[in-house]
Amino acid sequence: MKILVPVKRVVDYNIKVRVKSDGSGMDIANVKMSMNPFDEIAIEEAVRLKEKGGSVTEIVAVSCGVAQSQETLRTALAIGADRAILVETAEELQPLAVAKLLKALVDKEQPGLVIMGKQAIDDDANQTGQMLAALADCAQATFASKVELAADAVTVTREVDGGLETDTLTLPAVITTDLRLNEPRYVTLPNIMKAKKKQLDVVKPEDLGVDIAPRLKTLKVAEPAARKAGVVVPDVATLVEKLKNEAKVI
Ligand code: AMP
Repeated sequence: MKILVPVKRVVDYNIKVRVKSDGSGMDIANVKMSMNPFDEIAIEEAVRLKEKGGSVTEIVAVSCGVAQSQETLRTALAIGADRAILVETAEELQPLAVAKLLKALVDKEQPGLVIMGKQAIDDDANQTGQMLAALADCAQATFASKVELAADAVTVTREVDGGLETDTLTLPAVITTDLRLNEPRYVTLPNIMKAKKKQLDVVKPEDLGVDIAPRLKTLKVAEPAARKAGVVVPDVATLVEKLKNEAKVI
């Protein structure tokens, strides 16, 4: 069975991004870019499932975006993906467009499982996995914290508000990863070298017959309001007095 893992190139999670002065978006020129952390977890999980020696035969990493997303795909190959596909475009890609591109690749590659991040940390959309499952008309389990794969089904433990929920899905299925699913391995130098030789195909959205035109328009992006500095109080009595008489919340 093949596992497809979509990986997005995003601003590195350590970078503090700034809003452009005209409020039209974030200024991401010349900032460090990395693989979306939830996608790293997705690749790690796919590699672990393959290493268990079950029915997984191949892991295909996919990225949609600019040519530099090849770097992200090479990281996925170094973690252990076997092959990669870049759907290259310089156009803005919204979740629906990505889901349609992934659906076209699902039709072509026929994976038994798609494992992807629950959300991309740049736009925090949390939409692509759900949209892909709907478009591909297959089962989905979001926010996975445990994945157990059998021959024709997958059992997923999900993090929900009240605790944990366990679902068994028939394959093919889409799973989105939560933070506690696993801790991705460090990428070693020999594996980075090996990854350079692995197959990476580049296709265009037109080759897949997908209309990627944006459907949503961003009207304005603004910084959050600045917070007032806090004060350190010497004891609980002073805290209670301030809450009562200054903040007037008790
Ligand atoms: P989002 O719905 O944008 O929060 O993204 C959820 C997940 O969809 C990500 O964690 C990725 O696995 C996948 N994804 C989103 N955008 C892309 C992209 N441009 N290329 C590949 N995968 C993507």
